[in-house]
Amino acid sequence: MNMVDITAAQAAYRDELVDAGLLIPTGVDGLYGRSGVFEDVVERFDALVTRWGGRDGAEVMRFPPALNRQYFEESEYLKSFPHLAGTIHSFGGDEKAHRTLLRRLEEGQDWTEDQVATDVVMTPAACYPVYPTIARRGPLPGEGKLIDVFSYCFRHEPSIDPARMQLFRMREYIRIGTPDQVVEFRELWLERGREMMGSLDMPLDVDVANDPFFGRAGAMLSNSQREQKLKFELLIPITSREKPTACLSFNYHQDHFGHLWDIHTADGGVAHTACVGFGMERVALALFRHHGFDTAAWPASVRKVLWG
Ligand code: AMP
Ligand code: ZN
Repeated sequence: MNMVDITAAQAAYRDELVDAGLLIPTGVDGLYGRSGVFEDVVERFDALVTRWGGRDGAEVMRFPPALNRQYFEESEYLKSFPHLAGTIHSFGGDEKAHRTLLRRLEEGQDWTEDQVATDVVMTPAACYPVYPTIARRGPLPGEGKLIDVFSYCFRHEPSIDPARMQLFRMREYIRIGTPDQVVEFRELWLERGREMMGSLDMPLDVDVANDPFFGRAGAMLSNSQREQKLKFELLIPITSREKPTACLSFNYHQDHFGHLWDIHTADGGVAHTACVGFGMERVALALFRHHGFDTAAWPASVRKVLWG
């Protein structure tokens, strides 16, 4: 399939999802409401993740889909992904500026001149609030830390591909500890991820991957990430057999976040980190693609795994 065909297939699947009422359009590409049926699948999949990972003793944390701007700045996200970041701005002008704003609005002109950055930035990945939070607690215990998070995430990547949303949910487990502890965690989840997703009866593949780093320097970062096999993805075809969609990610950040936030292991070393991310909407879209829009008609084995 060439690019034109892929785009057409994405648009067609989006239209089907909207016609079936599973996604509710808002007029902005990548920004959708979800139906009760869609949410039921997301909730059942969330529960499935807990069934596989919930006995490992993770500390559960739930953050709103926004970050302290200071954490965001410290994360160096703007170095790597300035094009994806969503910062929250609010009106900061006086009454005169307010009158100008209203006039411009009425005239259909740009009204955003007096919008100023707030202390809040949209969360780009569910694990971002965790590292500075753990850093503040001081050195890690000997066994390191395991955290469970779930959040809407924002990325400015408008697309007609229903699997590429601007606001989507990510469930994650995050391991923070020695290199051995962290590598073991990622190996465990690579295995579990395959088995867990296999139980949902969809074609899948696991492959090395890279993040979409910005610019020319970014291409080098992407290559080195691939060469060092720091990122794997579990891929399922959704709108194209040739270009399957990353539904789960397995990331090894080495000591990147440990350095940024001064996270130390019990023996004084810089902590390593890894996370496994579950793309809730993508998994739901893959299930609807492979088993149909009527969840009552899904294969009995899949229904049993999700609904018990
Ligand atoms: P990443 O941090 O890019 O590895 O993302 C983690 C997981 O979130 C991916 O494996 C996807 O399942 C999901 N994801 C990433 N970007 C999007 C998006 N634009 N729309 C929907 N899901 C996404
Ligand atoms: Zn993460």
